[in-house]
Amino acid sequence: MTKFREEDVYIFNKSRECMSKEEREELQLRRLKKVVKYAYENVEFYRKRYDEHGVSPDDIQTLEDIQKLPFITKDDLRNTYPFDLQAADKEDWVEVHSTSGTTGIPTVAAYTQKDLDIWAECVARGLASLGVHKNDIVNVAYGFGLFTGGHGAQYGVQKIGALAVPMSSGNTQRQMNFLRDFPADFLCCTPSYALYLAESFEQAGIDPKSIPLRGGLYGAEMWSEEIRSKLEDKFDISAQNIYGLTEVIGPGVATECHIKDGMHIAEDHFYPEIIDPKTLEVLPDGKRGEIVFTSLTKTGMPVIRYRTKDITSINHDKCGCGRTTVRMSRITGRSDDMLKVKGVIVFPKQIEEVIMTMDELSPAYQIIVSRPGTLDVIEVQVEIDQVNFSDSIVDLEGFKLNLARKIRDAIGIGVKVTLAEPFSIPRSEGKAVRVIDKRDFN
Ligand code: ZN
Repeated sequence: MTKFREEDVYIFNKSRECMSKEEREELQLRRLKKVVKYAYENVEFYRKRYDEHGVSPDDIQTLEDIQKLPFITKDDLRNTYPFDLQAADKEDWVEVHSTSGTTGIPTVAAYTQKDLDIWAECVARGLASLGVHKNDIVNVAYGFGLFTGGHGAQYGVQKIGALAVPMSSGNTQRQMNFLRDFPADFLCCTPSYALYLAESFEQAGIDPKSIPLRGGLYGAEMWSEEIRSKLEDKFDISAQNIYGLTEVIGPGVATECHIKDGMHIAEDHFYPEIIDPKTLEVLPDGKRGEIVFTSLTKTGMPVIRYRTKDITSINHDKCGCGRTTVRMSRITGRSDDMLKVKGVIVFPKQIEEVIMTMDELSPAYQIIVSRPGTLDVIEVQVEIDQVNFSDSIVDLEGFKLNLARKIRDAIGIGVKVTLAEPFSIPRSEGKAVRVIDKRDFN
């Protein structure tokens, strides 16, 4: 059986994805001027911020002038919750998405129809580079709902005119049945879940290669080349990376072509900069730093110089696929201590807060994230308090389960709790090492 076929791949929008440098920069500058003016005139937050910084839309005369504008951060988005960053009239909003809000205040974005069209186009570009055509079936096993993953992927599939199967996540047996019976040509979900599906087929005595799948766009979590090889070997597919975030638009901000040497940023819609997260200085091609995005065309909630905290680098060289759009490398970390586990954002502080409420525990703890098989596992090692622990706890297992439940309620995903002897967790003289991430992201 022929699975992934290179001859199937194509460029969805040549006039945008293959522009010359001059053409692209001319378009970006025109759009940048427009969006800065639009945000200034329609969003009080931008107007105030720019006035405070002594900059105005008229100061944008070249692309480099973007550096005159202040950054915006997740905190700014939280402080304007829910809709104070929206620029479009409420009557033009057609859909709303939100981050999980596990840290308290979620980030909410309302989309206009124009935003949804841009989003569909960006995902469609990635699907085309995977070889998705009108007559194909694509199972979308990202979560649907307020999360952007499911809907974004589905809009892209439908933009191409292919058949989207909105599986959402979970119910592995049904996923397996539908992959086999429909039969699906492509599967889009988190890479860890795709691998889990492959292993589930194996456990059921079915060779995953016998499933007609040819490829998929995998994202919403950090992953490595090692996972890619496993996925590709097991299913005999092309596994391509997709990147995005709710604050910017959702998945499709950047997608990898079949060459797999970085993700092409839809830079006619999203203007990227790499900064040093400490000095905030803009870095040249090839240097790793935090990626910052400006949405050039979004009308619902435009973001201008949004600090993603995601660490990567960019490369403007022309790609072997023919596209000229800038490519970003895999995300290899976060510029803060935020952890992304199973697609969910977790802050060590959330776990710490639970531990601090329990007198039986000392404040020394460590969070160990690993990926023993295909799925992420969080282990929380916490020390018992010498004074308060010994006599008060009879049922040790019950105590651990209770703690694990409280942590799960706080962060939204399950953890394994290990109790450690007093003073057994290493102390640090400087900043305590709270998180040990054993996952390999290359
Ligand atoms: Zn390419």
